[in-house]
Amino acid sequence: MNHQRRAMQERRCTICGTHVGSEQACTWPLADTGTRYYFEAPAHSECLAFALRSCPKLASIAHRSYVVEARDYTVWERRAIGTSPEGLVFEMTPLGEPPSGVVELFALTPIDPQFTPATQWLADHARAPH
Ligand SMILES: [Zn+2]
Repeated sequence: MNHQRRAMQERRCTICGTHVGSEQACTWPLADTGTRYYFEAPAHSECLAFALRSCPKLASIAHRSYVVEARDYTVWERRAIGTSPEGLVFEMTPLGEPPSGVVELFALTPIDPQFTPATQWLADHARAPH
């Protein structure tokens, strides 16, 4: 099993690799709040705040990004079920459904996500007690 799938299934932080506790929020940086399927494992809010502050690429797009927070998420399997003239045809199925097609990668959908502009979220997060 590859790193991306394991991190999603085991709720591991994409940044530090340790477990995100069930009492902790899962967070993701996001450019488009209409995104339905996420292809990144979640991150601890502390890790994401650190990454947003220290990674030049993330910092440069913070003003037009959002931070998504959710208590939990649904994991999907993206399966290749056939081909068309445009290429492979994919289908999203909930994790663990009877196999059909070839599992290509996992995706996830946050449950009851909250979207906050990244710059505001960082400011709020800096004030939050640890
Ligand atoms: Zn972490």
